[in-house]
Amino acid sequence: MSKETNSSALVHSTPRPSREGQGGESAFFNPEVETLSRAEIEALQLERLQQTVRHCMNNEFYRKKFAEMGITPDDIKSLADVRKLPFTTKQDLRDTYPFGMSCVPLRDCVRLHSSSGTTGNPTVILHTQKDLDEWANQVARNLWMVGLRPDDVFQNSSGYGMFTGGLGFQYGAERLGMLTVPAAAGNSLRQIKFIKDFGTTAIHAIPSYVTRLYEVMQQEGVDPRRDTKLKVLAIGAEPHSEEQRKRIEQMMGVKAYNSFGMSEMCGPGVGFECPEQNGLHFWEDYYIVEIVDPETLEPVPDGEIGELVLTTLCREAMPLLRYRTRDLTRVLGRTCPCGRNHIRLDRMRGRSDDMIVLRGVNIFPIQIEKILMQFPEVGTNYLITLVTEDNNDQMIVEVELNEATDDYGKLKGLEQELRHRLGDEILLKPIVRIVAKGTLPVSEGKAVRVVDKRKVFE
Ligand code: AMP
Ligand code: ZN
Repeated sequence: MSKETNSSALVHSTPRPSREGQGGESAFFNPEVETLSRAEIEALQLERLQQTVRHCMNNEFYRKKFAEMGITPDDIKSLADVRKLPFTTKQDLRDTYPFGMSCVPLRDCVRLHSSSGTTGNPTVILHTQKDLDEWANQVARNLWMVGLRPDDVFQNSSGYGMFTGGLGFQYGAERLGMLTVPAAAGNSLRQIKFIKDFGTTAIHAIPSYVTRLYEVMQQEGVDPRRDTKLKVLAIGAEPHSEEQRKRIEQMMGVKAYNSFGMSEMCGPGVGFECPEQNGLHFWEDYYIVEIVDPETLEPVPDGEIGELVLTTLCREAMPLLRYRTRDLTRVLGRTCPCGRNHIRLDRMRGRSDDMIVLRGVNIFPIQIEKILMQFPEVGTNYLITLVTEDNNDQMIVEVELNEATDDYGKLKGLEQELRHRLGDEILLKPIVRIVAKGTLPVSEGKAVRVVDKRKVFE
C-alpha cells in the first residue's frame, strides 16, 4: 500500500534543512527560514494559511464550521483574516474521537499520538510521513540552535510511547545527526551509567526528573561537572520557573533550555529557547501565534498575558485552526540578538482551565473527584495541593471523612486504596490524607480544589 500522500491540494514548499546551515559553523540549522525578516515570515504565513484553510475543506468538521460561520477559503486574503476562522478546542478533538479531525484518508497516515492524561476520550493526533518529517526538522532546528552538532551524544530521558517527548526528540536528534540514546524515563542508576559510558553531552527530560537524577548522582558520588561530558539540557513538557531552571543549571553545571510542546501541535519542537534564554522562539513558519483574552477571545496587546492560540501551517493529517491551548503567556518580542525574528513568548504562566500538569502528565481535578466519590467513607470536600519536596513535585490529596471514627487502622487502609485507585486513573500516585470532617477550608463561591505550592510561578 502506498503511503505517499495524495492530498495534492496541499503543496507546502517547506524548505528542507539547508546543507549550508549544517556545516558545523553556522548558528542555524535552516538559515533560510530562521533568518527570515518579519515581512518574509508574514508572506510565508499567509500563503500557508490559505493552503491550510483550503485543505481543511477535506474534512466534514471544518466544512460544517465554515458553513455555520458563512466563510469560505477565499475569505482569507490577509494574515489578519485568521480571525475570521473558528477556534478549535480539546473538546472538539474529543467529540470527533478518534479520527474525525483528519483531513487526509487514514491510509495516508503513518502514526498517531495522544495527549498525556486520561480524562474521557483521549485526544488523538494523526501524522502523515511528511508531518513526521517536518516535526523532526523542527526539533533538530531547536537542538542545533542551542549548540548541538552531529558529534554530540543525546540521551532522551523522557517517556516514550504515546507521549510525544519520546519519539519527538528521538527523530529530531537523529535528524540533526547525533548519536541518540532512547533511555526513556526513570531508572536513574542506569541513566547515570549511560551518561558516563556513552559520553552523553545532552539530555532531554522533564525538569522534575532532572532534579531527581541529580539527587541520585549525589548519592552515588557522581559530580556532573567532573564525571560527565554534559553540556546542554533540554527541559520542558511541564511548567517550571526561572528559579527552578537556574537551580537545575547550578546543580548540573550546564545550560538548561526551556522546550515547549504539545501533542496537538505535533509535540516538542513548537517553541524553544535560543542561547539568549530570553523567551521561547515559536516557529512562525509552522504556526500562527495569537495571544487572546480567554474570556472575550479578543487579541491582547504585546506584553500582556493571555491565552496562547495556535494555527498549524504545515500539517497534512490534522491541521488545527486557532487551537485554544489554554496555556497562558505573553509576547516578549519579535526580534532577538540571536538573529531569529520568530516571535518570542514568555515561559508559560499557568492555564486558563483547571488542568494540572504534574511531572509532564495532564490531570484534571474532576478525575480525582470521580474516584474519591466512589468511596462512601469520604465526604465531598477535598483539596489537591501540589508541592515541591526534596526537589520532587508531588500531589497531596486531602479528603474529609464522612463520619467520625477512631478506627485509625481502617483509615490507613483506605488511604492506601485511594492512592492506588487514583494512581490508576491519573498515572501518578498521589499522597492521600484522610482528614476529619470540617477540617478543610470551605470556599465561598466556586470551590478552590487545587492549591499550587510548587516552586513554579514566582
Ligand atoms: P501534552 O500534549 O501531553 O504534551 O501536554 C501539553 C501541555 O504541557 C501544554 O499545553 C502545557 O500546558 C504543558 N507544557 C508543555 N511544555 C511546557 C513548558 N515548557 N512549560 C510549561 N508548560 C509546558
Ligand atoms: Zn533568539
